[in-house]
Amino acid sequence: MRIVHIRISVLDVHYLTKMGNGVNVENCSYGATICAERAAIIKAVSEGQKKFLALGVSTDVNEFNSPCGMCRQFLTEFVHDNFPIYLVKPDRTYKKITFEKLMPDPFRLDSSSMEKKIN
Ligand SMILES: [Zn+2]
Repeated sequence: MRIVHIRISVLDVHYLTKMGNGVNVENCSYGATICAERAAIIKAVSEGQKKFLALGVSTDVNEFNSPCGMCRQFLTEFVHDNFPIYLVKPDRTYKKITFEKLMPDPFRLDSSSMEKKIN
């Protein structure tokens, strides 16, 4: 069994200054693992939050780590192209990127449905 031991935490800055966070929850069945990014979004949505100002991803690895492909697709439903994402190293240095840089041509069923969710 191989489980990646990288601690990830995510800080979502909700629209109304309320902050939420998530951690990755690993599972021996890899497909059942929930990344911190998706955990944070699911937690926020379950609490009625659908508008986000930014997303921060920090790990205990001394390099910038970005959301995995599954999380990028998941985020597509909740953020716009210029949505800021902060990648943070343990020494607190960070790199700011946009969602579009991570996911330049995202799969969306209907772009107007995303606008309804974030407005
Ligand atoms: Zn992920």
